[in-house]
Amino acid sequence: MSPELDKPITYLKGIGPKKSESYKKLGIETVYDLLYHFPRRYIDFNSPVPIAEAPRDEPCVIRATLVKKLSAAVLRSGMSIFKAVMTDGQSDITLIMFNNKFGFDMLKVGQEYSLYGKVTGDLVRKEISSPLMLDMSTGESVEPVYLLTEGINQFALRQAERNALGLLGDFIYEPLPKWVMKEYQLCSLTYALENIHFPKDMNTCAIAKKRLVFDELLTLSLGMRLLKSRSREQSGCVMKQCDITEFYSSLPFELTGAQKRAIGEVTADMCKQSPMNRLVQGDVGSGKTAVAAGAAYFAFLNSFQTAMMAPTEILATQHYETLSGFLEPLGVKCALLTGSIPAKKKAALKEQIADGEYSVVVGTHALVQNSTQFKKLGLVITDEQHRFGVKQRAALSDKGENPHRLVMSATPIPRTLALMIYGDLDLSILDEMPKGRQKTETYAVTGKLRERAFGFVKGELDKGRQAYIVCPMIEESDSDLISVKKYSQELAEGAFSGYEVGLLHGKLPPDKKEKVMRDFKDKKTDILVSTTVIEVGVDVPNATVMVIENADRFGLSQLHQLRGRVGRGEYSSFCILITDNVSEESRSRLKIMSKTSDGFVISEEDLKMRGPGDFFGSRQHGLPKLRIADMSEDIEILRKAQLCAEEILRRDEKLTTPENKGLRELIDRLFEDDMSQN
Ligand code: ADP
Ligand code: MG
Repeated sequence: MSPELDKPITYLKGIGPKKSESYKKLGIETVYDLLYHFPRRYIDFNSPVPIAEAPRDEPCVIRATLVKKLSAAVLRSGMSIFKAVMTDGQSDITLIMFNNKFGFDMLKVGQEYSLYGKVTGDLVRKEISSPLMLDMSTGESVEPVYLLTEGINQFALRQAERNALGLLGDFIYEPLPKWVMKEYQLCSLTYALENIHFPKDMNTCAIAKKRLVFDELLTLSLGMRLLKSRSREQSGCVMKQCDITEFYSSLPFELTGAQKRAIGEVTADMCKQSPMNRLVQGDVGSGKTAVAAGAAYFAFLNSFQTAMMAPTEILATQHYETLSGFLEPLGVKCALLTGSIPAKKKAALKEQIADGEYSVVVGTHALVQNSTQFKKLGLVITDEQHRFGVKQRAALSDKGENPHRLVMSATPIPRTLALMIYGDLDLSILDEMPKGRQKTETYAVTGKLRERAFGFVKGELDKGRQAYIVCPMIEESDSDLISVKKYSQELAEGAFSGYEVGLLHGKLPPDKKEKVMRDFKDKKTDILVSTTVIEVGVDVPNATVMVIENADRFGLSQLHQLRGRVGRGEYSSFCILITDNVSEESRSRLKIMSKTSDGFVISEEDLKMRGPGDFFGSRQHGLPKLRIADMSEDIEILRKAQLCAEEILRRDEKLTTPENKGLRELIDRLFEDDMSQN
């Protein structure tokens, strides 16, 4: 790596301490950051559209010859307006410039220009105001457009990029081994960086982009594989194969084939010399908790403790109830550790855990991970992995003697992406639902039908069932909170007066949340009005109907998760999606929800329609941030990068040869401290 690249950007001409503060807002601190701040888009003066086909409300490039200048007008405000007629041979357009006499005088009648701007007007008369204009005789014809911030304009940013590229010119910097570039037909990094910023044409730009996307996805693939192999090297708590039929026969139901298979895979892993790193992925309701219980029982028979962690207290409590329900009758002592347990009791519990009196400890992530000592921890189970990062995953192995790790996720991730996100984990998929599950009938309606929907809900309540009403509180901001509170009050006093209405939201203190949830579980409340905090795995089989307000504000996968809260028992269940967004897109999105209940199908659709934002935008997956690759669009390159990563590691298992030094550096940069212990 050239040392120039890690210099602060103040090293560049024209960037002082003050400007560098503005750059910092864009996440740019070093020359490297600047070079990897890629254009968001380009103005391609090479590809004009005919004037007649110019889009409305969106800038575009047109190419036209100046036919005639009209006489200038001066407004009362003192502003002068210059107009000229231009033509592209088929349609005319009026060019309008304000207060720019100099610029206007420079224009030549008979000369062809490229213009970039918004075309307005109607079919007959079109106008373009103050466009960016390029004389066709000048060379550069693709202009990069960057994400900006206050204090930096396009011109300044372009200049800064040019200066940074100028630096790069003096150093040979090529992190990829030669054979990789040859085999995958990639341009050099210098060429890629030059042409991603200042391409001659869009074709060159595509060549540059391919290289940079490849770099990023290769780096990610390599990094994930290294994480995986790192944990492979350490020895864990080796267990012995033993008989768990007692567990099977004590369950109140027959496990599905998929559950049995998953338990088989898990117990086999735990008998190996290296610690297990396994993900159990299964749609909502597929019965992941029973798999976890099986694993915990197996660890118990081997005299090891199990820790199970959930992202919220509600979930931790629920898991505790389920696990102790399954396991206590078999003589397995279970403990629950959450923040709301009184300090004295907590201290006593922790002591008992350290003494090994409890075989299974369920709690919130922070609590179990940070401050609890175990006597003989053999298995760590985490629920809803997508909320934790790669780094946390790695940190868990610090506890105990490299315990086995089992991760449960209900987020159905398209297969192509799962490998990337969970590249460091082995995968068990629960692709079979417990018998007797009924599909949740799903309807999408507009707000006009709200009363009828509520009428339907009442019908269910009167049969003794319960209902969820979900409203989006995306920001969890104070103003959102007020509206959610008001909404639930309106329901309690209006449509649902005479019923008990509970309210659950993320701002409630944990013990309050707990109580609201408990009341709903115990049927003290009939309706639970909630924000998306119920998304994560709450189990109330008596709830049979869910109404979701502003359903179009949720991603499909999220709707699917929410919907999974109903249809968990023996009764037929319903989900009513309310939205006043009647756009084609919104409608077809919601239609998918009524058509299918397969989380994988839904996530694929989500990916297709909304892009990977749902998976990658929020960074909930815990992967490093990608600058240019788009895992849904760049699937082809992703596949190649994965093949390439395999090949590289086959030749150099730990990436220690000089040839791979550059790759090492790329990985360190991408993962930052995630990989630094490596
Ligand atoms: P999830 O995969 O969403 O975490 P849970 O583990 O919460 O699913 O299970 C959902 C419900 O299904 C629970 O009430 C659980 O007791 C029940 N369940 C799990 N496995 C089976 C099965 N094989 N047959 C019937 N019911 C099951
Ligand atoms: Mg669950």
